[in-house]
Amino acid sequence: MDIAKNLRKLSLEIPQHVKIVAVSKTMPVEAVLEAYKCGQRVFGENKAQELFIKHSQLPEDIEWHMVGHLQTNKIKYIAPFVSLIHSVDSFRLLQHIDKEASKNKRLLDCLLQIHIADEETKFGFSLDEAVLMLESSGFGLLKNIRVTGVMGMATFTDNERQIRREFKYLKNCFDQLKKNYFYNINEFREISMGMTGDYHIAIDEGSTMLRIGTLIFGERRFPDKQ
Ligand SMILES: *Cc1c(COP(=O)(O)O)cnc(C)c1O
Repeated sequence: MDIAKNLRKLSLEIPQHVKIVAVSKTMPVEAVLEAYKCGQRVFGENKAQELFIKHSQLPEDIEWHMVGHLQTNKIKYIAPFVSLIHSVDSFRLLQHIDKEASKNKRLLDCLLQIHIADEETKFGFSLDEAVLMLESSGFGLLKNIRVTGVMGMATFTDNERQIRREFKYLKNCFDQLKKNYFYNINEFREISMGMTGDYHIAIDEGSTMLRIGTLIFGERRFPDKQ
């Protein structure tokens, strides 16, 4: 199978400390199982309902990540089991995640999505907005979430220098947040950046987590925007 071959090739190519999130959106459960049989345990989806359904149909020891834009009314579907939410882009969303996590008696790990691209269409905080949130008194009240790093999506472009610049900026944001707000918090250590088209650059620039779909599963039949 191609999936096994693709995964093997990818894992030989990337440094040991970099984690692969296999983004299985739009792919059937059979494809996820194929990757699972090769030892892949971390999978990502960009829609809450699809994540919920795949979780219910697939082995219990899969670590499920939410990588796409999350609406507050959908958090309840994934709060009982999701391992990491990559796409927190507002304080309001974080408050709702905290509430659902609390209902499930869980501590939910989250990444702050930082807007690093040229495109208006992509979601995320500016660094200033993230700082404002972290300094607000409300943030300290959230007891059922834990911020474990940052996530970003580079501009969709062939221009490598631009992509590199955007990833450098995300690394820089991570370093500043680490220094000023998470200095003694060991768990704040993830930089989720790099997809099929730009993961080499992302690794160069300090990525700790790649979100890879196409390179593992092949082209999606119904491509979606994010
Ligand atoms: C689809 C998606 C990916 C993976 O994209 P590929 O180019 O297929 O590797 C990564 N991150 C997010 C947020 C996505 O929606």
